[in-house]
Amino acid sequence: MEWVYNRKQYTLHITGCCHCQGNPKYDSNWIVLKSENDALEMDGVAVHKCKVCQKNLEKILRR
Ligand SMILES: [Zn+2]
Repeated sequence: MEWVYNRKQYTLHITGCCHCQGNPKYDSNWIVLKSENDALEMDGVAVHKCKVCQKNLEKILRR
């Protein structure tokens, strides 16, 4: 699994799990991360996970 992180809004998304995430290729505010901890290491408690992504992830894991 791969994460995308918005460094301006401190939001952590799971790649492909929602439509509110930007494209790291075209927008430098977005970076691709290999784990959730990478975001936590950068911004600590400021990081919040996208609710849409969390819901969709639960759905995926339940399958
Ligand atoms: Zn999201």
